[in-house]
Amino acid sequence: MASALKDAIEDATETTVWPCASLAEAEAEIGRGGVAFVIAGVASADIDSMTMLKRFNDLKIPVLVYCDHPLDDAFAVFRPLLIGHVARTEPDALDRLLAIVTRMVENSVFKILVVDDTTSARSMLSSLLTMRQFQVFEARSGQAALKIMAAHQNEIDLVITDYHMPDMDGHELTQRIRALRSSEELRIIGISASSDRTLSAQFLKAGASDFLYRPFVLEELQCRIDNNIETLKQLKRLKYFAERDSLTSLSNRRHFFEIGRQRAREAQRHNLESAIAILDIDHFKKVNDTYGHEAGDTVLKAVAGLLSRFAEKGPHVAARLGGEEFVLYLQGVKGKSAFEFCNAILAAISATQIPVNAHTLSVTASIGVADIEHGETFENYLNAADQFLYMAKNKGRNRVYCEGVMLGLY
Ligand code: GH3
Ligand code: MG
Ligand code: MG
Repeated sequence: MASALKDAIEDATETTVWPCASLAEAEAEIGRGGVAFVIAGVASADIDSMTMLKRFNDLKIPVLVYCDHPLDDAFAVFRPLLIGHVARTEPDALDRLLAIVTRMVENSVFKILVVDDTTSARSMLSSLLTMRQFQVFEARSGQAALKIMAAHQNEIDLVITDYHMPDMDGHELTQRIRALRSSEELRIIGISASSDRTLSAQFLKAGASDFLYRPFVLEELQCRIDNNIETLKQLKRLKYFAERDSLTSLSNRRHFFEIGRQRAREAQRHNLESAIAILDIDHFKKVNDTYGHEAGDTVLKAVAGLLSRFAEKGPHVAARLGGEEFVLYLQGVKGKSAFEFCNAILAAISATQIPVNAHTLSVTASIGVADIEHGETFENYLNAADQFLYMAKNKGRNRVYCEGVMLGLY
């Protein structure tokens, strides 16, 4: 059973599973470190199963129970310590188990900040979240929360905040956080033991995503956390697809105009060298005409892959402008060094053998490069690069053209 589960889980997620046949084996594995949680097979509420769960509890290792029957009342004491439980007798047991494991693995990339001046409330929440594999940060006041937010710029995904706190109430904290980050990037859940029933509306108006009155049922809080994380995941997914070109997965034109413009402005403010290069594949129409549109697509993907590897050599950005035209925002280079960088790209492109059906193809490309300087508009630099590209085509293709070449400097 353990090795069948290992195969199923490792196929479905990027995790490593260690099958253990006994509590002693499991303890040894936990002792070696690196165990995030345990999936424990439980036959019945016998002494052995109880001892096992108690032992994992002492080791502070979260447990997902995979049991023979629906969870026995005898296990009720352990319920708060369990990630979940799945009965093998359920028809979709394996799928349910995999769904929980997948969720735990996905949770581990999310960062949650718990803000509460009461230590016990904070630790209760914090251990609940840690058990569910989230990365947890704790703050005992609004000011401390803002400090942590600043130290982890753009990294906190969810803030769970109490209302009554000495320095700043949860309502004000919510407003201050919202001034910095939108609900598309960060979710906020307010919690309060107050008897003031208008509090939830106040919190929500200030920009909270959700609100709970104490005392709450633990499972309700868990569901609300999961829902908010799920919303964030969906928003991130939508954002990713809105910003990408579907064929090559490079940034698309719209996204390039957004980040390229932003990066160019920052580079000028900090006096960093930067340049824009536009690349166009030579005689690409012939590839389509000779080998078909699909072969053309394969060539586009190969060139895109190569450009993204070049872009990773520095703080550069590569994008597909459309058709067989690509653009690179280059930072830390301009003039001759940008010219050399682009020549290296052309050399790599012409040396690449692209397998298409039974053949291998190779293509060349032309590049126009414009340095970013003199505080002109982003569109002007793109236009300049486009003009230089036109010159590169005119001069015979498979070459880089820029101001230095025009002036005969290199
Ligand atoms: P030049 O050297 O002057 O750039 O010539 P070219 O043939 O590369 O340029 P031209 O603009 O004449 O042709 C570009 C071709 O790219 C025409 C178009 O059908 C093809 N194309 C545009 N988008 C795609 C695509 O997504 N996939 C494929 N396979 N072809 C595309
Ligand atoms: Mg072309
Ligand atoms: Mg073209």
